[in-house]
Amino acid sequence: MIATKSYAAYNATTPLKPYNFERRNVGEYDVHIEILYCGVCHSDLHQARNEWGESMYPMVPGHEIVGKVVSVGNKVTMFKANDIAGVGVMIDSCRTCKNCKKSLEQYCVEGITGTYNGYERDGKTIAQGGYSTNIVVDEKYVLKISPTLNLKAVAPLLCAGITTYSPLKYAGVKAGMKVGVVGLGGLGHMGVKFAVSFGAEVTVLSTSANKEADAIQLGATKFVLTTDKAAMKKYDSYFDIILDAVSANHDFTKYLNLLDLDGKLLVVGLPSEEPKIKPFSLIKNRRSVIGSMIGGIKETQEMLDYCTEKNIVSDVELINMQNINEAYERMLKGDVKYRFVIDIASLH
Ligand code: NAP
Ligand code: ZN
Ligand code: ZN
Repeated sequence: MIATKSYAAYNATTPLKPYNFERRNVGEYDVHIEILYCGVCHSDLHQARNEWGESMYPMVPGHEIVGKVVSVGNKVTMFKANDIAGVGVMIDSCRTCKNCKKSLEQYCVEGITGTYNGYERDGKTIAQGGYSTNIVVDEKYVLKISPTLNLKAVAPLLCAGITTYSPLKYAGVKAGMKVGVVGLGGLGHMGVKFAVSFGAEVTVLSTSANKEADAIQLGATKFVLTTDKAAMKKYDSYFDIILDAVSANHDFTKYLNLLDLDGKLLVVGLPSEEPKIKPFSLIKNRRSVIGSMIGGIKETQEMLDYCTEKNIVSDVELINMQNINEAYERMLKGDVKYRFVIDIASLH
């Protein structure tokens, strides 16, 4: 077994604290990764605090993992020691269902094996995430990362990156389209970067007036303060696509009203409450609401390769593991530009 240091949530209400546990030995198809950086996703906070229900403790969050391969099992073909590798939101799936066979493992009929807050494939070991010194994952669920990139800024691509890339691609975002991004957080700022890189005209729809300059710097051409009713009115039936990356409970109808004919509201944010949707706002312009969950392994690799080619990374603030609880509070206040990433060296 592999001794591992980490930070864990012990319950829904107390701060994360140090936690020592053991990873499984490296199996024949496994890749053993020494973690260098791990991004802090709002889903980590949702689950650490049991906002979605049924959280399992102790829980080591973290699913935006970048590290260096220490060793590989004797049947591994895609990785070798010293490669740079990534792990995202899933570490396995059934591999045989119709969706897994279509490289859409995130929609596995049996459900994904999550990186944390669930059991590994053996059904008894609690999977633990990336706020830790190392991880052991089957090579099929490990991503290749170019060592030339700024690795701390690559980590958030493993969740925030793929979660925004996948629905924007699915919706066919391209030059000439008008795309709105709601919620300029970790996901939102990647959504802006991708939509801009696909050639769309991008507008940030935000509750934070102080994010306007950043929105423009990220490549958006317009910024709308969503609490300003008059400003929102001007964008009635304007957008082809709106990506909703909001972490808190909010009203969907407000954003549906901004969609043009056949416009799509792409929902990736996961607040705990059911949203309100007014059917009149849905039937007007034949609008639709589409959910999207991360992306399959093949598409995640495609996204990472695209980012390497286009030099796209996340805007990050590096923190020590010991500052995670403060980082959670700052994330709730929207006080991060635009993703916290843990320097795992601080755990050793
Ligand atoms: P984040 O960095 O905290 O960003 C969330 C943003 O939501 C904030 O920056 C803020 O943007 C906006 N917001 C916050 N409170 C709001 C409110 N009351 N009303 C309207 N807007 C509000 O979070 P994240 O890591 O990007 O994650 C966003 C959501 O996506 C989370 O719920 C997370 O669990 C979910 N998620 C889903 C998937 C998936 O597969 N679908 C994957 C990863 C994460 P402004 O200041 O610009 O308003
Ligand atoms: Zn995430
Ligand atoms: Zn499956």
